[in-house]
Amino acid sequence: MSAEPDGPEDRLRRFATIWSRAVFPVTSTSSTRPEFEALLLPMARRLSEALRARAFDAEAGRTVGSALVEAHCTDPEVLSRTLDCVDAYLVLYCGEDGDREDLRARSSRIQHAMAAGYAQALRERTLAEQEAIARAALEAQGVVAQALHATEARFRAVFEGAAIGIGIADLEGNILQVNGALRRMFGLSEQGLRGRRVKEWVHPDDAPQTWRLYEELVSGEREHYHLEKAFYRPDGTVLWTNLTVSLLRDPDGEPQYQLALMEDTTERRLLNLRLRYEATHDALTGLPNRTFFFERLEKALGAGEGQRFGLCYLDLDGFKTVNDSLGHAAGDRLLVEVADRLQACATAPGEMVARLGGDEFVALTTGRDTQRTVDELAARIMNALLAPISVDGRDLTVRGSIGIVEGPAGERSAAEVLRSADITMYRAKSAGGNRFELADEEADARAITRHGLTTALPTALDRGEFFIEYQPLVHLGDGSVRGAEALVRWLHPQHGVLSPDRFIPLAEHTGLIVPLGRWVLEQSVLQAREWRDRHGGEALGPLRINVNLSPCQLTHPGLVQDTVDILERTGMAPDALCLEVTESALIGADDDLLKPLRRLAEMGVDIALDDFGTGYSNLANLRRLPVSVLKLDRSFTQNMQQFPADPVDLKIVEGIVSLAHSLDLAVTVEGVETGAQAEQLRILGCDTAQGWYYARPGPPDRLHELALVDATG
Ligand code: C2E
Ligand code: MG
Ligand code: MG
Repeated sequence: MSAEPDGPEDRLRRFATIWSRAVFPVTSTSSTRPEFEALLLPMARRLSEALRARAFDAEAGRTVGSALVEAHCTDPEVLSRTLDCVDAYLVLYCGEDGDREDLRARSSRIQHAMAAGYAQALRERTLAEQEAIARAALEAQGVVAQALHATEARFRAVFEGAAIGIGIADLEGNILQVNGALRRMFGLSEQGLRGRRVKEWVHPDDAPQTWRLYEELVSGEREHYHLEKAFYRPDGTVLWTNLTVSLLRDPDGEPQYQLALMEDTTERRLLNLRLRYEATHDALTGLPNRTFFFERLEKALGAGEGQRFGLCYLDLDGFKTVNDSLGHAAGDRLLVEVADRLQACATAPGEMVARLGGDEFVALTTGRDTQRTVDELAARIMNALLAPISVDGRDLTVRGSIGIVEGPAGERSAAEVLRSADITMYRAKSAGGNRFELADEEADARAITRHGLTTALPTALDRGEFFIEYQPLVHLGDGSVRGAEALVRWLHPQHGVLSPDRFIPLAEHTGLIVPLGRWVLEQSVLQAREWRDRHGGEALGPLRINVNLSPCQLTHPGLVQDTVDILERTGMAPDALCLEVTESALIGADDDLLKPLRRLAEMGVDIALDDFGTGYSNLANLRRLPVSVLKLDRSFTQNMQQFPADPVDLKIVEGIVSLAHSLDLAVTVEGVETGAQAEQLRILGCDTAQGWYYARPGPPDRLHELALVDATG
């Protein structure tokens, strides 16, 4: 041992060592003792500081108490050993230059705070964890009580100095003693409390078990209980407390007194109520918000047999226009007025209205008869929106779309119900708005996959889930393969291969069509180059590639540049590419829309008018369009399936073909499924054909084989 006198830090460490030696054996921690000591050291420092601080800080003691619980030192022995250790050594090692009496008093208060912090932390765990820990917590509270009256002197100091209210009563409930904190909490003098009876403090908000627990305690059947309890103060105001009551026994173990520890939680409770209100209500309209609504809906869905629920999901029609044209302040005022009107629609018991966000509101009705009440509720809401709303001197007409879901409790989750309502509301909206629709499972299922596909789309491209099939384009005159149309597919991880009809409209809707279309174009042109490279020496010209363009791609400013880049990068000539645009996309197109297509056409890219004959376009218009190919829609070919074909149909096709040829347009026919059709179409003068008769869309190598077969055969 060193002869040098120890510094304060050494002494602090020594205190931590002693503490850890005392406590370590009763912990269930997985750390070693030195590790455990390292854990205690900062706590010891905190206690040491609290001992010497000018003003007493109960928080330090409480924090250390709860830190012990956090460190899994939950064995009841931990607290009593800790308190003993603090009692015996804290002043000795950490309080060298103060007044001994003061330091000892301070140490007692720290111990009390530690015990309180420890008990509190244990209680919190009790709430959070299972039965086993609950039992440990209750035992530990026994230790707290014991620690409080273990030595009379210590108890006295704790009693009067405590920030927590303490009262002692006999087993008949006569109050014998109360400390200053308790008197202050009640706003009463010692006289005012002494001699009163515990049973006088019944409060209407008492939890049902309150007085049963009390009876069990005073009859010696229970050692402790813990509750939140309200008391009336003499001035009529309410005091909320965290109340712990313990039974005190005499040295022979006979019940003798009851000891109540009370923490004033009135302020905290008010704060909590306010915080809860703020967390569950919408700041703009004051309506319950999504969180609150979810709670209520979950409760309604968890209700017993025979109970039902009905939900109206309302979205205002055209609210965005109000916001955009009149500004957000006006939009807000409109929402507040709508909220007020809605609130007036749902005033019966079991009904509520909430704002989910933006211009979306919900109204809920519960009970046994919601099949009827939900319809009435929806009708009331539609009615409430009829009268125009005046904002900034303008009368605004407000309309809404409502999705209604109604059903028995206990079958679906709140999220499912809300999603169904949302989908149904969209159905009402796409049917023109200003109406309500009832949820329908089949429509839901369709929309849910639609919804699922829409959300999966953006990542699908990055994940490489798309692939392209190629369908040959065959020359009707000599039967040779002249090229192929690229048709994209989505290999969806759950749904398998999806056809473009399932996802192209969604991709157009979400804007993904632009990068997807660019990818298809690039892949297809690369593929065409590969065919050229492998097929180059053959007598027939190069295989051309047809790629479909969506209307959205037409208006995208990068179209021409992207196409040029791809052709240059792959080293392909523009006339190896044909872009297919549907007839409907070009009906009524003005010059601006046609400009990019015209530029591409000038460069030598072919433009085909796809699905021709479905869009009722003005044939005279064809002259204006920069197209070089007409693709006759499948429906014409289908009409030729009967034999003999309807002569009028034949005349129409013949007419179209001759018109196209007179305008210098080539004609391709789609959907050729039989040799007879092919022959008929050849006679009618069509140039190329595409269809299952020749080949279904397939992998690129298939096309290469077909082309080779015809080149050599
Ligand atoms: P489309 O451009 O008119 O393509 C022809 C469609 O007819 C293809 O359907 C093809 O598989 C089908 N078909 C071919 N031969 C026959 C036949 O003999 N009988 C019948 N009944 N059908 C036949 P698919 O692949 O489902 O494509 C549907 C549509 O999706 C395409 O119609 C096109 O408008 C669009 N699409 C496909 N790929 C793309 C793409 O990469 N981008 C864009 N924007 N749209 C694409
Ligand atoms: Mg096409
Ligand atoms: Mg087509």
